[in-house]
Amino acid sequence: LVRSVNGGEIPDDEPSSVWRERVVPGRFEGRTVVVTGAASGIGRATASRIARERGRVIAVDLAAQGLEQLANGLPDADIVPVTADLTRPESIDGVLEAAGPRVDALANVAGIVDDFSPLHEVTDEAWAKIFAINVDGLFRLSRAVIPLMLEAGRGSIVNVASEAALKASTSGTAYTATKHAVVGITQSSAFMYGPQGLRVNAVAPGPVATGISGGMSMSEFGRERTGGFLQLMPPVSTPEQLAASITFLLSDDGVNVNGAVLPSDGGWAVQ
Ligand code: NAD
Repeated sequence: LVRSVNGGEIPDDEPSSVWRERVVPGRFEGRTVVVTGAASGIGRATASRIARERGRVIAVDLAAQGLEQLANGLPDADIVPVTADLTRPESIDGVLEAAGPRVDALANVAGIVDDFSPLHEVTDEAWAKIFAINVDGLFRLSRAVIPLMLEAGRGSIVNVASEAALKASTSGTAYTATKHAVVGITQSSAFMYGPQGLRVNAVAPGPVATGISGGMSMSEFGRERTGGFLQLMPPVSTPEQLAASITFLLSDDGVNVNGAVLPSDGGWAVQ
């Protein structure tokens, strides 16, 4: 058993069933929102929520099938799937083309965690691979979208960081370094673009039940990450719970929040 985000005990592979998503009708009406990592997990839940709140979603991912499932699951929604490998600089053009001249908001969600090594065991290849998507992809897409937001005099960006950017984590040095970079990009951009009407925030999830653990249960994943050592398992969130935090910051509900790194982890960051 693990503790649910709401305090009760739940089977360790079954995230909290206490909370129910409540769509805010029309919150993204008239808005074009680019969401990366939209084929699965947190990105998909975010894209789905924005689409159901009447936003036009540019849904970007490597995985064409997941994007198709997202769009097919919401036939009345305005979802433009863009299959793209964000580690490739040329992929950015396809995203901008699909979006058109106006992008109101951007959720940089796509990312990987595939190397849990301590620093002295990290290979050059593993280091480059994880930075290529978690940092370089996020950087390039933001660089392409920000001029459109500056022209409009408004815009909101949410970058998905991790608990690994807030506290000691077992996610490996390379992953931890990428998520610290995400926070650095977020805070620097919030500071520089705030006066021009842009907001740039980050969300720091704890463990979320998604495909990122490679099909392992969250408890197996936790054991793997700690080399078999026992550790207190943190609360496991659902992708929809993360989408609630991300869409809050992306939408006008987050109007007064800029440069924040919001833990969205059921309280794990303060433990
Ligand atoms: P996920 O694996 O379900 O989703 C990630 C998506 O990113 C996938 O659909 C994948 O195809 C896409 N992607 C990966 N590389 C890509 C590339 N080069 N180009 C385009 N798309 C690419 O995982 P998730 O848990 O939803 O992860 C989303 C974000 O949340 C990541 O940035 C991750 O680091 C972060 N995060 C997740 C957890 C967790 O426990 N799940 C915890 C902290 C932070």
